[in-house]
Amino acid sequence: MFLVLLGAPGAGKGTQASFISQHLGLTHIASGDLFRQAVEKGTKLGQSVKAYMDKGMLVPDEVTIQVVSERLSEPDCREGCVFDGFPRTLGQAKALDKALANQGKAIDKAMYIEVAEEELLKRLSGRWICRQCQVPYHEITSPPRTPGECDKCGGELYQRSDDTVETVKERLKVYFAQTTPLLDYYEAEGKLIRVDGGLGIERVAEEIIGVLKPK
Ligand code: AMP
Repeated sequence: MFLVLLGAPGAGKGTQASFISQHLGLTHIASGDLFRQAVEKGTKLGQSVKAYMDKGMLVPDEVTIQVVSERLSEPDCREGCVFDGFPRTLGQAKALDKALANQGKAIDKAMYIEVAEEELLKRLSGRWICRQCQVPYHEITSPPRTPGECDKCGGELYQRSDDTVETVKERLKVYFAQTTPLLDYYEAEGKLIRVDGGLGIERVAEEIIGVLKPK
């Protein structure tokens, strides 16, 4: 099964993608994580994408498509995967369809996690993430038991450098301008499923799994 998770930054795509990947045994591909790893390692790719990420802008399509296509060609993606944060433009969505079609495969569903804009701003500006297992916390709504430490694995919590108020506003602007057209794209293909992302993590996960599990 090949799934796309759509939604604004802060909608909970990462959380739900890792939940789906564990539940259905699918590989989780997060384009933002691939880029952050490259930045941390200081690779050539990392150096070329850092400025875009710091400003909240999208990395150019040809770079993004290349990075995700390489990841998609690895053996653990043969049976399927969950795309988180990709595609973000129509060009990326079309490139993904083509890459999958070349292997006789196709996107099965695009899950759209819908969250109101003011809620997104609140979520992103208090967000802390575990460096080891990527679980997100929020300093007001879901703080860790020990400040700075992950409840699940004891890993160190950090704030993303692009979770500042200024950059978050830019990321949301970019999202509404460039990524929302994908909703029409997947709707026209009969693949779009809308989920209310304001329901809370467990309820959203239940809804998604309910839609995906064979009846
Ligand atoms: P994310 O972790 O998905 O919020 O992504 C963090 C940043 O990485 C974004 O603000 C972009 O700069 C870059 N990025 C991640 N995924 C994509 C994508 N599919 N297309 C272009 N840029 C991306």
